[in-house]
Amino acid sequence: MDLRGRVIPAYQLDEPIDYPIKRLPAVTWRCQRCGQLPTRGPCTCGKRCYYCRHCLVFGKLRTCDYLVTDPRPLEPVQADHHAELNLTVDQQRIARAIVKTIDQKKRLLVHAVCGAGKTPMLFPGIERALCTQKRVLITTPRADVVRELTVHVKGAFRQTTIVSLFGGSADRLQLGDITISTTHQLIHYRACFDVVFIDEVDAFPYHADRTLHRYVRQAMRTGASLILLSATPSLRNKLLPTVRLMRRYHGFPLPVPRLQIPYTETDVLDWLATHSTKPRLVFVPKVDDLKVWQDVFRQHQLKSETVHAADPDRITKVGQFRQTTGILLTTTILERGVTLVDVQVAVLDADQAFSVAALIQISGRVGRSADFPEGEVVFFANDRSDAMYQAIHQIKQANREGFR
Ligand SMILES: [Zn+2]
Ligand SMILES: [Zn+2]
Repeated sequence: MDLRGRVIPAYQLDEPIDYPIKRLPAVTWRCQRCGQLPTRGPCTCGKRCYYCRHCLVFGKLRTCDYLVTDPRPLEPVQADHHAELNLTVDQQRIARAIVKTIDQKKRLLVHAVCGAGKTPMLFPGIERALCTQKRVLITTPRADVVRELTVHVKGAFRQTTIVSLFGGSADRLQLGDITISTTHQLIHYRACFDVVFIDEVDAFPYHADRTLHRYVRQAMRTGASLILLSATPSLRNKLLPTVRLMRRYHGFPLPVPRLQIPYTETDVLDWLATHSTKPRLVFVPKVDDLKVWQDVFRQHQLKSETVHAADPDRITKVGQFRQTTGILLTTTILERGVTLVDVQVAVLDADQAFSVAALIQISGRVGRSADFPEGEVVFFANDRSDAMYQAIHQIKQANREGFR
């Protein structure tokens, strides 16, 4: 059923979800805008109505209200061809699988290691979609990644309209032939997209937050193809038809993290000194640790910059770090989708609060560029955690598979 141009009640009972996530636990009233559970209270209409606290920022939505979807028909999609690509044999294999999935309107999981060069592999699929009148959505939880992807996609497709959506972006509420969006922005879209790519599907906050999956499902048209991209797929997603790419585009293996258990401040300072001519990325588990370590470094005449998720200057700081050989202290927020040339990585207290997926992603920051395909990752810890060993095991396994 196409949702466009329909007036729908603001609150409805759950429908079964045709989307690869768990069924909802019980039949219940649900906000039709954001998918969360509403609260009941006295209302201006005189009755006791449900209203939703979770999406209050978009205006109060009560049981006696209606949601109206944009009644205008969608404009035709402008066909476009991507700029010339230089895909490896492995990348071409994945690209063909994606094109086939789009033709057959099916679902696919692309399990590719960090640095496999995922973005260009999407382009033949996007081209096929645009040439067959299909509207494309690429979504990811992170605004940084949306910005990076937008640059890549704009470089490859020159004719078509590309809309980039994230909190505070100028393209708000627009719809492109290709739309690149943070998943949160999809709350405003209903039945718009024929081909949906979800990048880093197992990244926080997808893993825990069903709401985001709901946004994606609502934004998809009936019979849309869904392509999930992940370096660390969850068991549930592994049930989908899967193609695997365990080799980086430049052909070098993934750097295997070294363990340092136990460790002291001196070990960290020594490590920083060994790589003094290169940019160094130091991960800590909590925002509070940033200051502590920055002070430690300062006492040893080492200048460092800190950055975390809620940091308003994040973009500038990361941008500056790209051009220096400095030290950047960070929480897990930088782990995904950011490419820094010849970066070396240390994870402090790697046994605390880092998941297997996070550790694999963090390790995947190193050696991504063809000019500097090697580098060092060290897990500093004072205790042993399963996550560290599993991460190392999975990285070694990927290397074995990639070089068979
Ligand atoms: Zn709501
Ligand atoms: Zn009411």
